Amino acid sequence: MNITELTVHELQEKIKNKELTSEQITKAYIDRINEKENDVAAFVTICNDSLEQSKKIDEELNKENNIADGSLKGIPIGIKDNICTKGIKTTCSSKMLENFISPYDATVIEKIKSEQMPILGKLNMDEFAMGSSTENSAIKITHNPWNLNKVPGGSSGGSAAAVAANMVPWALGSDTGGSIREPASFCGVVGLKLTYGLVSRYGLVAFASSLDQIGPITKDVEDSAILLNVIAGHDEKDTTSYDRPKIDYTKSLKNDVKGLKIGVPKEFFGEGISEDVKAKLKESIEVYKSLGAEVEECSLGAVEYALATYYIIACAEASSNLGRFDGIRYGYRAKEFSDLKELYVNSRTEGFGDEVKRRIILGTYVLSSGYYDAYYKKAQKVRTYVKKQFDENFKKYDVLLTPVAPTTAFDIGQKKENPLEMYLADVCTVSINIASVPAISIPCGVGKDGMPIGMQLIGDRFSEEKLLNAAYTFEQKIKFRENYKPGFNK
Ligand code: GLN
Repeated sequence: MNITELTVHELQEKIKNKELTSEQITKAYIDRINEKENDVAAFVTICNDSLEQSKKIDEELNKENNIADGSLKGIPIGIKDNICTKGIKTTCSSKMLENFISPYDATVIEKIKSEQMPILGKLNMDEFAMGSSTENSAIKITHNPWNLNKVPGGSSGGSAAAVAANMVPWALGSDTGGSIREPASFCGVVGLKLTYGLVSRYGLVAFASSLDQIGPITKDVEDSAILLNVIAGHDEKDTTSYDRPKIDYTKSLKNDVKGLKIGVPKEFFGEGISEDVKAKLKESIEVYKSLGAEVEECSLGAVEYALATYYIIACAEASSNLGRFDGIRYGYRAKEFSDLKELYVNSRTEGFGDEVKRRIILGTYVLSSGYYDAYYKKAQKVRTYVKKQFDENFKKYDVLLTPVAPTTAFDIGQKKENPLEMYLADVCTVSINIASVPAISIPCGVGKDGMPIGMQLIGDRFSEEKLLNAAYTFEQKIKFRENYKPGFNK
């Protein structure tokens, strides 16, 4: 048995039946990380002490004659490096926070610890989650396990690559405009962006607070539902989190989509979307029809404005959120300065990378008194308009089906020098964050280049159960994991 190829629900079974111990599982992952990290470069920090934790957890598990169904005790996890972990560095893959150790755990980390899941390490990302390829990391460039010359997507590229390369059984990422879904699509894994407010953002280093959500990156849909069960819920430390009755999301996986109404917004299939991606999505639509779903073309015209709106709102919020990194309260401080102003300026100049600076400048500009009405205020109006169009569609459809990204994973270096082209990689994902609705990215095949292609299913707010079932039923039918595997081509 190859332990690192198993899904989490398979690992749960093995622990329950005493076929595997937590130590064996964690050891297998640490060995795998040591074997592959040189090639994939997914980790910012590797936590070798997870093995000690596993040994202690095994002592408890040994005493239990009947391990509870659904127990995650002893199953390890990887965490994107913008989620605060007490005692373990949280760098946001930046020079600014290169040595930052949070004095507290994010709420999602408290939840993971209360399940007794050891943390294998912190995963690479674009600096402060700004990017679509993980090339903006100030620490290292992560490579796509399917082809090491390609990007893994971003900003949660370390998380998606680590799951695809079997270096972690599953991981947490964050999604502000596509950062869970696009890397999941590029790496052939499952990424779930949740309804805004379903999961606490407390302890997630803020990029754009009205858009950011933490979510699971997993090998399959069932694992996604399991991890959602762990992290969902109201948190009084995050006033934007909702107080809703607890749901067991695994119960929603029915493997049945008969009568499900699927809308296919035509605007997502226009210019700029590669023929390969279009072809795979058309095949996927046929799969749904054969499973008894009702599929119809629909329209989401406002999506044309979503990318511009996103980059105005996200940059505006980022410029404000990143104001706290001033060389005094957090992180990097310049060595040379003659007064307070120079301390700020030099620390920020030296501590932030190019993309982060670009966003701060753009954000400050759209919020400045002369341009506020023309850009920021208008973007907020368009945001409402986009939301309304989604609402209209969800009166008719249970889910909407679109591509995740216009292409498969691109080459490392291909878009790095052209920020606008990089922003276009988000054209299919940002409107979802603008409308605060949930969406899942699941693999639906591979392109001519042998790289995975993702399908995005979008649901109405708090319709995660419907979304998960729609994704699960498709996955059971096409069995992507069994048919395709990352090649580790050099
Ligand atoms: N790629 C998008 C950006 O650069 C989304 C990032 C994210 O979701 N964190 O802003």
